[in-house]
Amino acid sequence: MTRGPAIPNALGPGATIGVLGGGQLGRMMAVAARQMGYRIIVLDPSPRCPTAQVSDGVVVGTLDDIDAARHLARQVDVITLDTEHVPADVLEALEAIAPVRPGAAVLRTIQDRLVQKQFLDRIGLPQARWAPVDDVHAALAKVGRPAILKVRRAGYDGKGQVRIDRDSEPEARLALLHGQPAVAEEVVGFSREISVILARGLDGQIEIYPIAENVHRRHILHTTRAPAPMPEARRKRAEAMAVAVAEALGHVGVIAVEMFELPDGRLLVNEIAPRTHNSGHYTYGACATSQFEQHLRAVCGIPLGAPRALTGAVMVNLIGDLWSKGPPAWHEILARPEARLHLYGKDAPAPGRKMGHVVLLDDDTDRALATAEALIATLAARS
Ligand code: AMP
Repeated sequence: MTRGPAIPNALGPGATIGVLGGGQLGRMMAVAARQMGYRIIVLDPSPRCPTAQVSDGVVVGTLDDIDAARHLARQVDVITLDTEHVPADVLEALEAIAPVRPGAAVLRTIQDRLVQKQFLDRIGLPQARWAPVDDVHAALAKVGRPAILKVRRAGYDGKGQVRIDRDSEPEARLALLHGQPAVAEEVVGFSREISVILARGLDGQIEIYPIAENVHRRHILHTTRAPAPMPEARRKRAEAMAVAVAEALGHVGVIAVEMFELPDGRLLVNEIAPRTHNSGHYTYGACATSQFEQHLRAVCGIPLGAPRALTGAVMVNLIGDLWSKGPPAWHEILARPEARLHLYGKDAPAPGRKMGHVVLLDDDTDRALATAEALIATLAARS
């Protein structure tokens, strides 16, 4: 038997990966990890969280519980994240025990929208006009109206965001954020939203997935289509922007860079997620290497897999609202040969909560988008 050259710092099958946060992203990575013979231990407040259900072990604790996090760190070979909301101080403390990938410095830059925007300005990437909200009137004078105020920390899926229209009373709108520090952004008249998902390995290797085209409803991702139909030059520009972000951060793992595409073809960075991403769920089934396996490969220091698309795909999220009268009519999904159902094992459906998703594998992505809408309309009509 011939053995390949040893990869410095590589963790092979049998190694144990610690995941901070036990949501659906951790769960899907744990499934990929187990398939490849790795072990998974997760830190989460719930011993029945989506990731724990498919893991080898769980440490019960909140993400800011440093003792619980240290307890996890002592049992694993490498640590990674299911969410960017793990306090950077906790990550820094863990770095003394086991490698943390991505590292505390990456999270420090991303976690605070203000620092993230300063970072994007510093590396020269275009974004919506923005301003810190020390004085809301001064901020509006800078970004114009309509504007969006976003809390600097711990916002997601539109939580912690308020819009200020031309006739809004700024102080009243700001008060809705309960004194949390915020940034203001101009409202961008985008023609569509896209995301570039790529992985950066421990050795700097970069592999880029086909670009995703995203539609949000009520600030929550509704559908993703990939590959996004796009002129070649624009695709290359979007990819170069995402690569610039990953390299400037020194990121290790999967990273998603969400962008607004303007009617004139310009691209603005909206936000960065230093982890696997909802708009990359289509890669499981549609690409040679899923984003979850890819993240695992990156954090374990093994070579990245091919991101190549094997088929076109559309992903549609299954939101808790569809459960209002009990579980959705599964046969509507299961009867479609091109549909792959993913459920996250969450036992408390709530409006706006992501419960699962469906990936429609179809090279005709216009048709797949129409199917996704028809499917959701059918499920919603029964909920
Ligand atoms: P975010 O959490 O910042 O990604 O915002 C969630 C969604 O709100 C985005 O995907 C957009 O659909 C919308 N949104 C956020 N910021 C802006 C903006 N500056 N202009 C227009 N729409 C926005």
